Amino acid sequence: MTAAQHFSQSYAEAREKFLEAARKAGAVLRHHEHPLKGPKGETLATDIARFGPEDASRILGIGSGTHGVEGYCGSGVQTALLVQGFQTRLPADTALVFIHGINPYGFAWDRRVNEDNVDLNRNFIDHSKPYPENPGYEELVDAINPPDLSPETMARSREIMRAYVQAHGHRALQHALSAGQYTHPNGVQFGGRKPVWSNVTLRRILREEMGRAERIAFVDIHSGLGERGKGEMICVEAEASPNCQRMRRWWGAKVRSAVDGGSVSSDVPGTVPVCFAEELHGKEVTAGGLEFGTVPIAEVTIALQSDNWLHQNGGHENPGAKEIAKRLRDAFYVNADDWKEMIFAQSLETCEEALAGLQAA
Ligand SMILES: [Zn+2]
Repeated sequence: MTAAQHFSQSYAEAREKFLEAARKAGAVLRHHEHPLKGPKGETLATDIARFGPEDASRILGIGSGTHGVEGYCGSGVQTALLVQGFQTRLPADTALVFIHGINPYGFAWDRRVNEDNVDLNRNFIDHSKPYPENPGYEELVDAINPPDLSPETMARSREIMRAYVQAHGHRALQHALSAGQYTHPNGVQFGGRKPVWSNVTLRRILREEMGRAERIAFVDIHSGLGERGKGEMICVEAEASPNCQRMRRWWGAKVRSAVDGGSVSSDVPGTVPVCFAEELHGKEVTAGGLEFGTVPIAEVTIALQSDNWLHQNGGHENPGAKEIAKRLRDAFYVNADDWKEMIFAQSLETCEEALAGLQAA
């Protein structure tokens, strides 16, 4: 079997392939329907495919599409796992829960953010408290969110960012660009001002699907950071924390702490692992983002700037919408068989290691 054939070219195709593979494999299916529709009027939903005992004390969860368009990567992995029979290799007292399309709107409309222009992976914070500040973003706000996409304006934006790197270093620029912001609802990297649909829905899924378990592992599949095809397991806690240490025992060298600076990711607030820790408080939770590299970061940045500009300027109705959506998709999804095979092989290994880790004392 080749894994590449299980990847898709649209959300609708990805959802159909996933549900069909899950049905054939005998999954218990549950659907959380989104209030909006996809570009062809199709249903949007976060779909659950579950295997193993309902009262299992150990659960491995595998998620896709937290960042919408990154679902092309995660969905392909999920469907390939199902077709190759990963669910038949569960140890006793262990359940497997696939969560497909965590941000289905962004997935279907080729956006990394959701229907509210919110980065879901910055939205899991306490909205009653003061929001985290991102001074670098404030300083660079006009360069990050250019008024138009002309070559001159984009060159000026890059120049300002280059000057910022010279003054403060690469990590500082990455933090400014990616750590989220809670002050510019129409800007890139907005974290939202309330829990969005996918936040509320994921919390409900965790309570319903995982609330009875004692040991929970979660692999949230992402794409867009790092070397092409190379996987990294991102821990959102410090290297010395018990959770990060457990991740290191299970997954070895591919674990990187975003807090200590060794990761492709910046230390960002309000991520999915935070949601797991909150909803499954008191249980052993081993949750991380499995991130795969796609194209150079400069291209990812331009794609995100263009996408955001588009949605402040007519969105899907803008004549340039198709081209910009494709640019964004190409930044987060390498539509090449060798990339898909690399992604799948590393994801399979990571999920096998998680199953073994859940059994370990
Ligand atoms: Zn992501």
